[in-house]
Order: sequence, then structure tokens, then C-alpha cells
Amino acid sequence: MAESLLGSEARPLRVAVVGSGPSAFYAVEALFKTPDLHVRADVFDRLPTPYGLVRGGVAPDHQKIKAVIRAYEKIAANSGFRFFGNVKLGRDLQVEDLTSLYDQIIYAFGNETDRKMSIPGEDLAGVHSATEFVGWYNGHPDFRDRGFDLENAHRVAVVGNGNVAMDTTRILAVDPARLSETDISENALESLERSRVTEVLLLGRRGPAQAAFSPKEIEEIAKLDNTDLVVTPDQAALDEISETWLESAPKSATRNVKFLASQAELGEGALERKVRCMFLVSPVEILGTDGRVSGIRLQKSELYVDEWGTPRPRGIDSFLELEVQLVFKAIGYRGVPVPGVPYDDKQGIVPNDGGRVLSTPGGEVVPDQYVVGWAKRGPTGLIGTNLADSKATADAMKADLVDRRAPALPSDDSHATGSLLESRGVDFVSYADWQALDQWEIEQGKARGKVRLKLNSVDELMNAVRELRTGRNA
Ligand code: NAP
Repeated sequence: MAESLLGSEARPLRVAVVGSGPSAFYAVEALFKTPDLHVRADVFDRLPTPYGLVRGGVAPDHQKIKAVIRAYEKIAANSGFRFFGNVKLGRDLQVEDLTSLYDQIIYAFGNETDRKMSIPGEDLAGVHSATEFVGWYNGHPDFRDRGFDLENAHRVAVVGNGNVAMDTTRILAVDPARLSETDISENALESLERSRVTEVLLLGRRGPAQAAFSPKEIEEIAKLDNTDLVVTPDQAALDEISETWLESAPKSATRNVKFLASQAELGEGALERKVRCMFLVSPVEILGTDGRVSGIRLQKSELYVDEWGTPRPRGIDSFLELEVQLVFKAIGYRGVPVPGVPYDDKQGIVPNDGGRVLSTPGGEVVPDQYVVGWAKRGPTGLIGTNLADSKATADAMKADLVDRRAPALPSDDSHATGSLLESRGVDFVSYADWQALDQWEIEQGKARGKVRLKLNSVDELMNAVRELRTGRNA
């Protein structure tokens, strides 16, 4: 049989992308933008909705960040793009299905779980991961039924000093009236309206110079109109190690340090809610009464410089116990193994070499399988970080295509995935289905004075998709 170059007009490249967050869209865009490369990209998501953490992670009061979706809509408008929502790898499709239907596969399924603190008391009622909290207020179907006893808590601890800790803290502290016009989940808004939380302890295991939060995010907390961001002069002070380290640290670290020092000058403030920054403390035990959190035991730390020149925390012989009624762990995400896909248990990612999947960490390249986003590099970076990172993986994919030829596709090839899913009884969501649902959610939101009303269970989403389909076909 005559063969053509893979990726030519005569034999387009068929790519399966598992996951539909920013890293997925940027990888597809990089392929679509390649001159003379003809690509058909099928993007799968286990949820009926696309956009990953932009829909399910970015906080509801950060609508400007969510506007990045406009760029993804443009990518989806390419005639080579298709969406298959409500399709889970390992349940509805196996890796072998993808390898037989596609020429290349990109894993873009992110990091779906949270890191553990591994300290006594972590399993007490009232200890939550920020992953759950963020998913819950964002109407993510996995977390819709979570409950957070905000009505019986006045002081809570947020462990971690990253931007997820910032989101968690801000949502706990902000006046819920400020969220009512957003796309926050309705039950989360009701729960936040009943919240009695007046104090959030923001716990960093290193010093103010090493905080992982972006300056904009910590400054935003200080701007909340009902909340004082309290930093004592002691907490804002730098040790010698940090003074030296700051000379070569990212500019954001210096901006954070200056900002925290300026907050220290403001004192306690008189607003109704307080966010208190505590640095150089590590939780060593969550204390409980009758199975519920009643406090947290912290060990103070000092910094030392490790062999790579990075300041690290080291516990000292000084402890304190503080009463808290809830604990939120915002100490980072972690990937979960996906059936048929190699997994690096140590790092919680898909083992890879510059985006080429490896059979084991440091092992052989698995041909035609690639990875992007947090599944590739771990849970770091902002949305925009994925632009260059996904492009690098797309470059590897293109390099692996050079001079590869393949037989022509059968005329019904473009129906193969849909037919396979239908034969397995999988009701997949197309991009047209999603567009109708998107419109519907926006209209429902508008009627309630909100930017969007998010449906937050797979059943509700699928029922709406089916009803809207009927309407379109009538
Ligand atoms: P992160 O930036 O890695 O922050 C994790 C924090 O947890 C760090 O302060 C870390 O301290 C601390 N930590 C880790 N293990 C700990 C332990 N056992 N005990 C106490 N503290 C511990 O992760 P993230 O906040 O989950 O955010 C993930 C990525 O998403 C980041 O790149 C973030 O910027 C991004 N993001 C951005 C936004 C936004 O732009 N608005 C919002 C959310 C997330 P050490 O530094 O000492 O390790």
C-alpha cells in the first residue's frame, strides 16, 4: 500500500490528548501552528467539561485569570480539533485503544491529589486538603459533597506558603458578598456566608524570603476590606542566611520581604478578620478532641543552607500549641497512577525525558507517548508556564516524526473513536455539546446576577447536555 509522510495532507497526524487543561491546549496549539503539519487532535477529559484547573482550580474571584479560556476557544475552533468529554482513560478507553487509534498520545492529566504531611492527627475530622476546598468552592464534581465545618470554627490553620494557600486563605477571609456574583458553587457560597471564621493562621515552614506565594497574591489579601494581614516585626525579620540568599533570589522574593516588612509596621489593625503570617514553623501534630481537630502543635525551625545552596528548615527544640478548629493543607499536589501509563511514585509524575514518556524513571522511551503540564514536571508554575513547556513537548513529537511514513487512513477513520465509545455505551460530550452547555450555564448565571451557574455533578452536567442536544436537534 502506498505510504505518505506522517503529518502530510495525504496522511494527517492523529494525536490523542488525555486531559483538557492549559497544558493540553498549548500542546495542541503548538502542533496546529506548525507550518505544513496536518494534525487531527482529539482531546479527552474524564469530566463532561473542558479546561481543567482553569474551571476547577482558579478561584472564583479571579475571573480575569479565567479569561484565558478565550484563547483555548480559538484553538478549539480549528477544524482539526475535537473534544471527547466524559471519557476516562482506564475506564472507557485503555491506552491500547489510543495506540491503535492514534499516531501519538499526549498525557495532560495533571496532578489530581494532594501531598500528605504524614504527622499524627492528620486523619482527624476537620483536617482538609486545599485540593478538596478549592475543588468544592469551584463546583468540581469530585468535591461537591465535601463539607467544611466553617460554622463551628473561629480560628483555622492553613499550612503552606504557596499560591494555593493564598487562594484558600483569601476565600476563607473575604466577605462572601464579594463572591456572590462570581461562578462560585452555590453551596460553597451558602456555607461561607454562615462561616464564623475570624482568624486564619498562615503557616510557612521557611522564612518570609522563601515564601512561594506571588507578591500579587499576598498583597491581595492585605487589600481585603474586612481583613487585616498581620505580620509581627519578629516574623518579618530576616536571618543572615536569607539576607545573603536574597541577593541571588528571584525579584518576587525581595518584593515579598519588603511588603511583609511594610505590613509589620501597620500593627494589628482593627478589621473584623485577621490573617496572621507565621514563618519558620512546621506542624508536628494535629491535636484532637472527640475525633475532631482542636489544635495544632508546631515546631519552630531555623534555616540552614543545603549542598545546592538552598535554605532549608531544620526543627529546633522549641514548640508551641495553638487552638484551631480546622486545618487546611496547602502543601502541594501530586499525580495519581493511571492504568497503563508509566508512573514515578517518588515524584508523583509520569516519568519522562523532556516530555517523552519513559517506561520507568530513567528507563526506555515509550514510543509515541508524551506528557505535558504537571504530569510532566510536577505541580509548579502558573498557567502561562505551560506555554513554553507544552511547546517543548510538541517539538519532541515533531522531531520524532521526521521522515516517518504511514499508509493512508481508511475513509471512515474519523468515526473510529466515536464508534468505539458508542459501542461501549459511553455518552461522550462533543465540543458542540460543551458550547451549548457553556452558553446555558452563562445564561442561568445571568438570570441570578452571576457570571455563571456551574453545574457541579457529572449526572447534572450530562442531563443538561442531553436536554440541550434534544433542543438543538428538535
Ligand atoms: P507551591 O507553590 O509548591 O507551595 C507549596 C507550599 O507548601 C510551599 O510553601 C512549601 O514550602 C510548603 N510545604 C510543602 N511541604 C510542606 C510540609 N510538609 N510542611 C509545611 N509546608 C510544606 O504549591 P501550590 O501552592 O500548591 O501551587 C502549585 C502551583 O500552582 C504553583 O506554581 C502556584 O504558583 C500555582 N498557582 C498559582 C495561582 C495564581 O497564580 N493565582 C493560584 C494557585 C496555584 P517550601 O517552599 O519550604 O517547600
